[in-house]
Amino acid sequence: MAKEKIILTGDRPTGRLHIGHYVGSLKRRVELQNSGLYDKIFIFIADAQALTDNMENPEKVRQNVIEVALDYLSVGLDPSRSTIFIQSQIPELCELTFYYMDLVTVSRLQRNPTVKTEIQMRNFEASIPVGFFTYPISQAADITAFKATTVPVGEDQEPMIEQAREIVRRFNYIYGETLVEPEILLPDKAACMRLPGTDGKAKMSKSLGNCIYLSDSADEVQKKIRSMYTDPDHLRVQDPGKVEGNTVFTYLDAFCCPEHFGRYLPEYANLDELKAHYRRGGLGDVKVKKFLTAIMQEELEPIRNRRKEFEKDIPAIYDMLREGCEKAREAAAATLDEVRRAMKINYFDDKELIAEQARKYRGEVQG
Ligand code: ATP
Ligand code: MG
Repeated sequence: MAKEKIILTGDRPTGRLHIGHYVGSLKRRVELQNSGLYDKIFIFIADAQALTDNMENPEKVRQNVIEVALDYLSVGLDPSRSTIFIQSQIPELCELTFYYMDLVTVSRLQRNPTVKTEIQMRNFEASIPVGFFTYPISQAADITAFKATTVPVGEDQEPMIEQAREIVRRFNYIYGETLVEPEILLPDKAACMRLPGTDGKAKMSKSLGNCIYLSDSADEVQKKIRSMYTDPDHLRVQDPGKVEGNTVFTYLDAFCCPEHFGRYLPEYANLDELKAHYRRGGLGDVKVKKFLTAIMQEELEPIRNRRKEFEKDIPAIYDMLREGCEKAREAAAATLDEVRRAMKINYFDDKELIAEQARKYRGEVQG
């Protein structure tokens, strides 16, 4: 049988989802889901991982589980085609993590560039919680428990997928072919790999408060774009401006397509022409921001409207999540059985072992 094609990916319930998640991962997931090319799709809300750096704030994590679920449904993830579940409800993941910890060294974890940056961001330097430090291992458990072949994520996740691949190789080498090596699936466009925040900081991130949320009202979106970071040296309309590092243009790179010009800015044929004019001088930030606002509203309005519909029946969403957890647990338990067998810790379902030990001791007693 050909290897099944399985997708796994997730998000931390540390806030509502934003347009960085959307271009970095969510949009792709929905396309993959609708392509029909995958045998199974697992999408999870990483509450246990969120607790590794929000341990003192369980209420925040609890409240955001439903927010993330609502965002999922409103972008078009469909529970009849994608299994949506909550990480903490799958205890098998903890057990896998515990075994994988034997396969990773402390220095290997210390080299992980994403963890390094995140430790700095959270001022954890002096006192890193062990759970946070080891979250790449738990992420490897999440991925491998479902035998995922494809993990659609943003660029910041590259070191995590590499770590998971190393664990798989090491596990299979020691204990025999059991786990599946996952492939990362990055966004096509460079601007979508790591969308900057509205403040121009390296990454739009819930924890940095520099986000445009999928559920922001039209008014909020407009306000956030109006006060967005551009080129600090582009003071007057006639000044030449820089496009590189200019967040408004980065967002245009991520969201704009040629049809948008026909609809909202017909005096330009495409983004290259608009950029050229900005570089030359004579094009004001206000005009570019208005254009970006129109594009964003077009993209976000249907998402916002679908969310309002789903918000009307919250208990149904918890039911959907509960069913997703049951399905996911079954899949993870099947992998864990194989892992235990491979690691020789399946004492009671191994008749051969019991018989062999019995023979050995019978022999010794007789001898
Ligand atoms: P936190 O600050 O709590 O870590 P976050 O905003 O970084 O939250 P995550 O839940 O860690 O979001 O990330 C979920 C997914 O979204 C990952 O696949 C990640 O690569 C992707 N992602 C997050 N932020 C961005 C971004 N700014 N641009 C592109 N992809 C992103
Ligand atoms: Mg993150």
